[in-house]
Amino acid sequence: MINEPINIGVIGVGHLGQHHVKHYNKIRNANLIGIFDVDSNRAAKIGKKYDVPVFENVEDLLNKVDGVSIVTPTPNHSEMAKLCIKHNKHVFIEKPITVTLEEADELLKLSKDKKTIIQVGHIERLNPALIALNTYRIAPKFIEIHRLAPYTSRGTDVPVVLDKMIHDIDILLSLVKSPVDKIQATGLSILTDSVDIAHARIRFENSTVASITSSRVAKDEVRKVKVFQKNLYATIDLLLGLTEIYKITGKKDSGRGGAMTVPLQNDSNEKFIVYEKPSIIKDDPLQMELANFINSIQGKEAPIVTGKAGRDALEVAIQIQNMIIQDIH
Ligand code: NAD
Repeated sequence: MINEPINIGVIGVGHLGQHHVKHYNKIRNANLIGIFDVDSNRAAKIGKKYDVPVFENVEDLLNKVDGVSIVTPTPNHSEMAKLCIKHNKHVFIEKPITVTLEEADELLKLSKDKKTIIQVGHIERLNPALIALNTYRIAPKFIEIHRLAPYTSRGTDVPVVLDKMIHDIDILLSLVKSPVDKIQATGLSILTDSVDIAHARIRFENSTVASITSSRVAKDEVRKVKVFQKNLYATIDLLLGLTEIYKITGKKDSGRGGAMTVPLQNDSNEKFIVYEKPSIIKDDPLQMELANFINSIQGKEAPIVTGKAGRDALEVAIQIQNMIIQDIH
């Protein structure tokens, strides 16, 4: 275990990378050494704003750090991560891990050989509303997820499956701990030349079924997960940070946190529906995932979203995307 602060760098300081810089500056056991961006004007602006040294060459930065955040455009993730891992650096790669599965597998193999950590930025896994589920015994039979957003040009260089749905695929794979059995998918291109709305029905080997809808053609933003299982229904609003649980119990007053109970049947004194609103920790998910990366490098925690998890979410996303393309043509 390492007790000294971890020397860290950020590669790519665009829209999201600037927030990595901001948060590393606040993490007590992280020592932000510097940043690198191929756009030197952008790098200078962010360096000045956060008072962080700017490196003109990525290798110079790598020679001074233990790990880096890679926040460059997705097509660059594979090449950049390979370079960093070859320099024996731990990497936090923004999502999706890479464009192709072959690239992801190559990175996983390289990091295993070099004994470095790969962590992936599937930030929703750190959403406090989702974390609130951890105190319940979750064994889903059916899951429904909606992620809808008004159109913006950001992220439209990739299909909605790789930009948005991949967040929910990662959530799904973390909730249903069973291999995927069968996928059906459909989608449409509405505003761009790429797929803008997608729907997938995923059946797992343990017979759990999930329905996921992702769209960038919506009036209002929605990010909701609904989990159904024997004697429990959970609804998680990832946008509002609200988790609500309805469960069956045998005791009228057994709910947590000001819970209400309703008899399951009018004449029943034995079973009640309990409504609970678990308390939510109001932490910033980006700061939490970067702190988890630093603590993992120190050997004090394990990565919450591993490189393997990022690779598995990509595998399902690519299958869905390929099915949609076949369906459209
Ligand atoms: P962006 O275009 O705003 O920023 C990318 C930056 O990388 C730019 O400043 C660019 O100059 C720089 N860059 C490009 N090639 C480079 C290279 N070879 N070396 C160094 N710098 C390079 O993009 P963004 O919106 O910040 O997205 C970056 C990544 O983050 C993407 O993979 C995206 O999918 C991901 N992302 C994740 C989330 C999330 O919810 N986790 C949200 C937004 C973006």
